[in-house]
Amino acid sequence: MKAKRVDAVIDWLRPIAEPVAKEAEFSRWISAHNADTDQAEDWCTACARAEVTRLNALHPDHEYLVDGGWGSSTDCPPYCCKCGKTLSDHLTSYAIRDEIDHYSRHSVTLRCKQGAERAFRFVQMLESHDFDVNDAATWRFFRRLEMMCKRAKGGAP
Ligand SMILES: [Zn+2]
Repeated sequence: MKAKRVDAVIDWLRPIAEPVAKEAEFSRWISAHNADTDQAEDWCTACARAEVTRLNALHPDHEYLVDGGWGSSTDCPPYCCKCGKTLSDHLTSYAIRDEIDHYSRHSVTLRCKQGAERAFRFVQMLESHDFDVNDAATWRFFRRLEMMCKRAKGGAP
């Protein structure tokens, strides 16, 4: 019952999220054979490649390389640390709770510059196994998305 309602909202969000979803990739990070690197930073592939080229020109003996790209889990929505591009790693239950908490204090509107980006994150959240519809705060958040969906479709009571 609830799952069907969630699916309906996902179907509505997906086309709005499409411009971001088709560009989003799993985050990369930078490793080196002979040096320690700061692997806490997320990169898109293009920026990671450019950074590796730059670092190898400076320190050829360190042998930097582009790592990652297989889709890890993250405690906050990931963006490229260089260009700000949206990355698509899986959100942990902690990340989802944090987002829900954020939106309990902010509007869930998609009528803003970040509309596609937000829709993309909402789809990620709703599709996650950690999106627990039996949790009261989670369901309240979902109901707000559902109301927005119904209004957009012109079917709100
Ligand atoms: Zn980038």
